[in-house]
Amino acid sequence: MSPREGRRTLRVVVVGSGVSGLSAAHRLVTEARRRHLVLELTVLDASPRPGGVLGTLSQDGYVMEQGPDCFLSTKPAAVALCHELGLGRELVGTNREHRRSYIARDGRLHQVPEGFHLLAPSRFWPFVTTRLFSWAGKLRMGLDLLIPARRGGEEETLAEFVVRRLGQEALDQAAQPMIGGIYTADPRRLSLAATMPQFLEMEKKYGSILLAMWKARQSQGAAPRAGGRASGARYDLFLTLAGGLAGLVDALVARLPEGCICNGRRVDALHREGNHWRVQVAGGETIQADAVCVALQAGATRALVGEADPALAEDLAGIPYASVATVNLGFDRSQVRHPLDGMGFVVPSVERRSIVASSFSSVKFAGRAPRGKVLLRAFVGGATHPEALAMTNGELIDAVLRDLSIYVGAQGRPELAVVSRYESAMAQYCVGHLARVARIEAREAALPGLALAGNGYRGVGIGDCVASGEKAARRLADYLTDLDAARWNGERELEQWSGE
Ligand SMILES: Cc1cc2nc3c(=O)[nH]c(=O)nc-3n(C[C@H](O)[C@H](O)[C@H](O)COP(=O)(O)OP(=O)(O)OC[C@H]3O[C@@H](n4cnc5c(N)ncnc54)[C@H](O)[C@@H]3O)c2cc1C
Repeated sequence: MSPREGRRTLRVVVVGSGVSGLSAAHRLVTEARRRHLVLELTVLDASPRPGGVLGTLSQDGYVMEQGPDCFLSTKPAAVALCHELGLGRELVGTNREHRRSYIARDGRLHQVPEGFHLLAPSRFWPFVTTRLFSWAGKLRMGLDLLIPARRGGEEETLAEFVVRRLGQEALDQAAQPMIGGIYTADPRRLSLAATMPQFLEMEKKYGSILLAMWKARQSQGAAPRAGGRASGARYDLFLTLAGGLAGLVDALVARLPEGCICNGRRVDALHREGNHWRVQVAGGETIQADAVCVALQAGATRALVGEADPALAEDLAGIPYASVATVNLGFDRSQVRHPLDGMGFVVPSVERRSIVASSFSSVKFAGRAPRGKVLLRAFVGGATHPEALAMTNGELIDAVLRDLSIYVGAQGRPELAVVSRYESAMAQYCVGHLARVARIEAREAALPGLALAGNGYRGVGIGDCVASGEKAARRLADYLTDLDAARWNGERELEQWSGE
């Protein structure tokens, strides 16, 4: 008899088909195969197509990322998944020629000084000679070398930490647009421990961020990285797929059992009934499942688990989300004055503009625009600019064009403009986030056959979401293995008993 023969089918529902839910579904299938479990999998998603915020649109020779456009190679889960799915050859890095980025100040773009990383410089001359910071601002940042390290005390926000160590200008001109931009968050609420714990470690170990940065640079060696001198970020860390990130969604969907993904099916509630979960779908349908993975935004998860565990729901409700929009614009190269010799730029809130950042997408990655054209992509909204999302698509495009004309000299109408909106899509890791997530995980562990995944907990990036989906899947696979064994043993005992 094969290991699967005589086994009962285990029914599992994954709610959400973003990258977290699809990764969970994929890993559930591979784990079930490995453990000889017989699985019936259903993936339910409210939206009309799988992928969540991941979406690549190809139009008129442009390849536009509507949501994320890359992921970090330092978060291994996404890279490993791409290899597992046979996408290894599709992985591409950023353009090696133009590994620099810009920050806006007083209506102009300034190159991020070479060796400057998120908060602070690691090289002396590029920092001293930059016009991105005033002399007073630079001197204040230098005081970091003298300010004693803080020992203990309340958890700090990103803003409190940066102002304390490096001064207000470092916050306004660098930390807010660069780190706040990654999380589309307000640094006055963002938890440093939950988002950039490496800076806390630096203070603890060296008593100074500048000293820690210089030490790190020395230990890495001063040789310029491949592709010349980089500024602003470690661009060798950013990866995408040659045809766009939708390729990851397509590959995941192709590996799942045929027909298991059901789009246009919103889940309204989860009820715990005996050993099962009853999944209530909008429109009245219900599905009975042995296990459920909820891979949604924390707020949407809260609405589903409230009946099973009100305290869990309360903690989930405390994770706020921000809404963002992207605007992809295709121009003839002659319409844009700037040399576009970088990956893009960020716009500090103090500039009081509509856009928070812009990528030079067709420079950043190859194959994104037809010959002689450029693709620019702007971010609008987030926790610092929520009012921007009230604009109509036409108003958003006009506002972005106004800002692009100021910063990169974009003239005239683009030949293509695509607005993509993401309501409550970006989790905000506020002060207290890590303690909240620890409580959520403890309560989740006490609910048999339920696992949570998504960007609300331990990382917002694609790599973090893949890891969270896979972790949830493995947890459920352990539970299902035990359940399967218990059922099998129960049935054998029953057979023996009835045969005696
Ligand atoms: C514009 C933008 C740009 C980004 N850029 C980057 C980047 O460059 N690099 C990076 O690493 N990360 C980036 N991120 C972050 C990252 O893309 C996301 O955190 C990640 O993709 C979230 O995946 P997810 O599956 O957890 O959630 P989502 O993609 O939000 O998917 C959740 C799914 O749940 C569904 N759903 C919601 N409620 C219900 C319900 N009740 N019933 C059924 N289905 C429901 C939704 O329809 C959706 O499909 C970006 C995010 C955005 C929005």
